[in-house]
Amino acid sequence: MSVAIDYELCCWVDGKCKSVSGCCCSGQESAVECEGCVTVCPTGAISRDKCVGIDDSLCDDCGICIESCPHGALS
Ligand code: SF4
Ligand code: SF4
Repeated sequence: MSVAIDYELCCWVDGKCKSVSGCCCSGQESAVECEGCVTVCPTGAISRDKCVGIDDSLCDDCGICIESCPHGALS
């Protein structure tokens, strides 16, 4: 199993938050708030630049990131 990203649900698009309100990083243009998935990953498998990416070769399928995402974008 590997973690899947639903880019329709993930707020981070093209390097900034696409949410207009109600999001922890709404309006931010730097990776500051809604990076729970990035910071909780114990293996450094998740990166966030223009969009969120997961390096499957580093992922150990622990599932921690899935619980951390406030938008339910990870499964
Ligand atoms: S399942 Fe675990 S190792 Fe894999 S990307 Fe998520 S937090 Fe990282
Ligand atoms: S925590 Fe969820 S919504 Fe936030 S950047 Fe990660 S995948 Fe996207």
